[in-house]
Amino acid sequence: MNIEDKIQKDIALKPFTTWQVGGPAKYYLEIKSKEDLNAAYSWAKDKQLKVYILGGGSNILVPDDGVDGLVLRMLNDKTEAKGERLECGAGACLSNAIIKATGNNLSGLEWASGIPRATIGGSIRGNAGAFGQRMANLVETTEAFYIKKKKFVVFSNRDCKFAYRTSMFKKKAEYLIWSATLRLHKEKPEIIRARIEESLSHRSRHYPKLPSVGSIFKNLDSSNIEKGNPMLMNELKDKLGRTGKISAGLLIDMCGLKGKAIGGAKVSLEHANHLVNTGHARAEEIVMLISYIKQQVRDKFAVELQEEIQYFGFG
Ligand SMILES: Cc1cc2nc3c(=O)[nH]c(=O)nc-3n(C[C@H](O)[C@H](O)[C@H](O)COP(=O)(O)OP(=O)(O)OC[C@H]3O[C@@H](n4cnc5c(N)ncnc54)[C@H](O)[C@@H]3O)c2cc1C
Repeated sequence: MNIEDKIQKDIALKPFTTWQVGGPAKYYLEIKSKEDLNAAYSWAKDKQLKVYILGGGSNILVPDDGVDGLVLRMLNDKTEAKGERLECGAGACLSNAIIKATGNNLSGLEWASGIPRATIGGSIRGNAGAFGQRMANLVETTEAFYIKKKKFVVFSNRDCKFAYRTSMFKKKAEYLIWSATLRLHKEKPEIIRARIEESLSHRSRHYPKLPSVGSIFKNLDSSNIEKGNPMLMNELKDKLGRTGKISAGLLIDMCGLKGKAIGGAKVSLEHANHLVNTGHARAEEIVMLISYIKQQVRDKFAVELQEEIQYFGFG
């Protein structure tokens, strides 16, 4: 079958996002092979269409009127254990990677237990992390598709230039993550299981039950707050997290915004840095609520919150 026959039109993206918000993709293709990936980019280039890469949709906001371009949903979902390494396709879910690792007595990914749908590709790009751990600690190599030259390139951990919630792949959109080798370590199964339980239990106690996308804003560097607002830093000095950052959720909570709603978008009562879809939220309402929160935090603390979520197909 040629690529044109595999590409679908006007496919709803809502079910592919954990927020369950947004309109359809004008063109949509599920990617399982390198050949299809290559052909899809050639097809889009011929038609002068923009290409968007969709992982698990657990960190994106899709506009209400949809995405005018070709959306590639990464479904190359291999997970294979080799000694202390786990080879994963970019489309593999973290949850499946954890199952595979646990089955091979491999530890390192337990902190990600309970993050729904997130893929290896999306998580490497954004250097996902929790409880003081992150993808940067695990990635040994990443194989990426260099879109301009249409070839696959292998990057070392160092080449990936990981930093807080970012990597080289976030800064340079010319690469698409195809696969990765994670370096884990052998551990007793009962210890791995206990860490998974701990992570699941933390998330079930502190995270909202309604559709969300995790943290909306990045946490803030204490040094930046200190420069802009020394009084605030003084007030917050006993609230520094283990990474030396101030939680964005804490600032939002201190503005009294838990429960603030615009239409179907609402600041979660469980966690002020999570916005939930209470039923029929529109992307437009989420954008307005994000902007309102940023303005309130700016007015009260003279600091600027930065989005951790990605605007997918806007403008
Ligand atoms: C309940 C909940 C809890 C969460 N908890 C956490 C947490 O503890 N820590 C944390 O860091 N995050 C958390 N998140 C956010 C989210 O799960 C992560 O950011 C995750 O890594 C995103 O992966 P994804 O596959 O869903 O990416 P998507 O949302 O599909 O995409 C995110 C971005 O990555 C790009 N992208 C996706 N795949 C690729 C690829 N193969 N190559 C290049 N670019 C790609 C997309 O174009 C988009 O710009 C949580 C989300 C939810 C819903």
